[in-house]
Amino acid sequence: MPELPEAETIRRGLAAPLRGRVVRRVRIPRPDLLTQESDRFTSLVEGARFLDVGRRGKNLVFELAAVDENDPHLRMVVNLGMSGGMTLLRADDDSTGPSHPGVVFDLDGEGALIYHDVRRFGRLTVFGSRAFSNWSQALGPEPLDSSFTPSSLADGLSGSRSPIRSWLLDQKRIAGVGNIYANEALFGARIHPRTPANRISADDSRGLHHALQRILRDAIRARGTTLQDYRTALGTPGSYASDLRVYGREGRPCARRCGGTVERLVFSNRSSFFCPRCQPEPSSLN
Ligand SMILES: [Zn+2]
Repeated sequence: MPELPEAETIRRGLAAPLRGRVVRRVRIPRPDLLTQESDRFTSLVEGARFLDVGRRGKNLVFELAAVDENDPHLRMVVNLGMSGGMTLLRADDDSTGPSHPGVVFDLDGEGALIYHDVRRFGRLTVFGSRAFSNWSQALGPEPLDSSFTPSSLADGLSGSRSPIRSWLLDQKRIAGVGNIYANEALFGARIHPRTPANRISADDSRGLHHALQRILRDAIRARGTTLQDYRTALGTPGSYASDLRVYGREGRPCARRCGGTVERLVFSNRSSFFCPRCQPEPSSLN
């Protein structure tokens, strides 16, 4: 499912071609994808102009100049859920577009921006300035921001007894990390996924900070990880799947050639993948 690198890749593909374009008409084949009434959503977005495309965690943030002068700056936040994506269809595009369109934004002149989602766990919400700020403040720091430092990570970890894998998935703790990159970063830092956050040493937390940033940056460079549905805004798959060291690799030899075999452990209803030799379980959990 799309995490920070996938959302960032889609953002990069959309920002330049969308800037300045006006939404001529909104069509909503799947109203259940909206957190607002269709009529309300449509009235806010129709006629608005795209200023820019940003990102917060795993969410795309479309900045819009609204028609309504009372709140001229809107943000449409798109949570991509399990299988959501955004595609820009040009008028001269021969393809019929994505197979599961959920919300279609017809653009001025020609072409359309299409939100598509096979499994329909994604959500679209239009926020005014204040509501957006409240929403954004409820999320944790951006892991690639300069304000996210080894010491701020260590501070966050020290106050929680959650297993580190669960801690990393909590969007209020840190924004944008999902199960794939959490498992990869823990392998990179040689930390067992069930280690309580507050039992991670200062050295290990520095190592985790480094591994997280390196893996997220590498994955953005590879335009994300495609296991099933994820595609870039241009409809092409990302290539980071071939760089995964543990995720989805149960039973395969450890990528460090340590002699260990990757294992899968299910907790909090999610699979965790790790090498028991490189990531030994803390003694008190045995
Ligand atoms: Zn190993």
